[in-house]
Amino acid sequence: MAHAWAISRSKPANIAKVVVVELTGADGSVGLGEAAPTARYKETPQTVEAFLKRVDPRGLSFTDIKGSMSYLDTLSPRDASAKCALNIALLDGAARRAKKPLYDFLGLGFRENHHVTSFTIGLDTPEVIRKKVADAARFPVLKIKMGGADDRASMQALREVAPEKAVRVDANEGWKTKEQALEHIEWLASDGHIQFVEQPMPASASARDWAWLKQRSPLPIFGDESYHLAKDAEQAVECFHGVNVKLIKTGGVSVGFDALRAARKVGLKTMLGCMIESSILISAGAHLAELCDYLHLDGNVLITNDPYLGNRSSEGFQRHDTGAAIRLFSVRGRDYCLGRARCAGRLRGSSRDGLRRAA
Ligand SMILES: [Mg+2]
Repeated sequence: MAHAWAISRSKPANIAKVVVVELTGADGSVGLGEAAPTARYKETPQTVEAFLKRVDPRGLSFTDIKGSMSYLDTLSPRDASAKCALNIALLDGAARRAKKPLYDFLGLGFRENHHVTSFTIGLDTPEVIRKKVADAARFPVLKIKMGGADDRASMQALREVAPEKAVRVDANEGWKTKEQALEHIEWLASDGHIQFVEQPMPASASARDWAWLKQRSPLPIFGDESYHLAKDAEQAVECFHGVNVKLIKTGGVSVGFDALRAARKVGLKTMLGCMIESSILISAGAHLAELCDYLHLDGNVLITNDPYLGNRSSEGFQRHDTGAAIRLFSVRGRDYCLGRARCAGRLRGSSRDGLRRAA
């Protein structure tokens, strides 16, 4: 990673481990997917690989994504990140076979250079925050992590370098009570350039406490760790002004599509976020941009050894026009690791439409 990474519930780390999946059809068509497992959802590279070993390729088909995902759900009610990797690989293969970009395969379209992504400033010392903010000058919107030892010092450091830049705040469940959360949000509102505050309290906070905070908050509050699936939308609208969907916690693009659409239907603002990811996951997420009011897809910008070409956001604007034939994922190298990322064995074997494990 370009910088040590820390949020409210984690110690600084320099390496993020991911698992890459490659599905190969009997006709040679290929789909790539990626899991970025996180301890927050009790997943690790080892749990992802253990799940993948249980997958019978005969249950997967490039021509039946829905049936394939139903099969995966019979294996485990959890393992969203592992299912995400397979869902993306299935959709990648299906869209390639249809010779369409995934956003067209999904019927969404995509406006080039329209969608703006924010860039993350993780928890750090004021000195390092100042440097990170200066290095991120090309990004029009920043997202700063809070819930650390001294949030005011972090914000002050950011403002010394970027006095009026638009900023999103992510507390990652770091403020433990509704009163503490409200006090922080009222202070942030006085800044005048904060767009919204993400997950101010723990996901375990009661719906009553969330409703209390939503009613009083001078800034919009977004649920991230509190929002996963489309079925959660009715509850979420009582608690939040918007929600942050991530592919690795919903279980992939298909479920993320439903979660975003359900949120919009009940009147919630929508955001698509990410973890530390390569361009596979980031590109897959960017194909859902037209369902989002806000994007936060900077995971592939935070790492220094991305082996893929894909969606780019180097100036803060999402672009798919990077040369890949169907503007999906363009592979720079086949067998690789991100830092010490674990590379899953590719699926081999025969299936009803010829998906097979390879290696
Ligand atoms: Mg978040």
